[in-house]
Amino acid sequence: MFLVSEAEKPFDWEEILGVYKPQSCNLRAACCSVSTPSVPVDELMKMAADGDEFSRDFLSVFLPHANHQAARDFYPEQPDHIDRVLEMVSGQNTKVKMDPESVVFYHCQYLGENRLCQVYEDRPAFCRKYPSSPLNILVKGCGYEGWVASCKAKLLSLGYEVSGG
Ligand code: SF4
Repeated sequence: MFLVSEAEKPFDWEEILGVYKPQSCNLRAACCSVSTPSVPVDELMKMAADGDEFSRDFLSVFLPHANHQAARDFYPEQPDHIDRVLEMVSGQNTKVKMDPESVVFYHCQYLGENRLCQVYEDRPAFCRKYPSSPLNILVKGCGYEGWVASCKAKLLSLGYEVSGG
């Protein structure tokens, strides 16, 4: 899940926490297959119309899955991810409160059959920066899980409450 509030004005988490991301992911293409922004689609479209760069770029490459089951089927490596996100957004302690029915999952139109990006050299900035925040909900097995865990441990050690997956 992309935290849209942070995509608009991203913190430089690596600099702030001194925890540096790996140079590349493990190429499982989970974020390209079952992504979801932390706002409903009508809000995302309004933000794009108002010139928000992240929303515009997101909608320029991603296509919505027809429904939650279609998203599960599209990424069978981690079918539980969809339910994990839906559970988290409806939980009590979540940073992202959403009606699960309004959550839309997307897949990128440039993802090849081999699960490789077909426009890798020209991919949008948000793909290059992903995950822009350690509070994003990652698919289990994502190559950035270690970075997220280290950032959360650092935040906890500094006395911050940490939510997200
Ligand atoms: S443009 Fe490439 S890296 Fe970005 S979401 Fe699409 S397939 Fe993934």
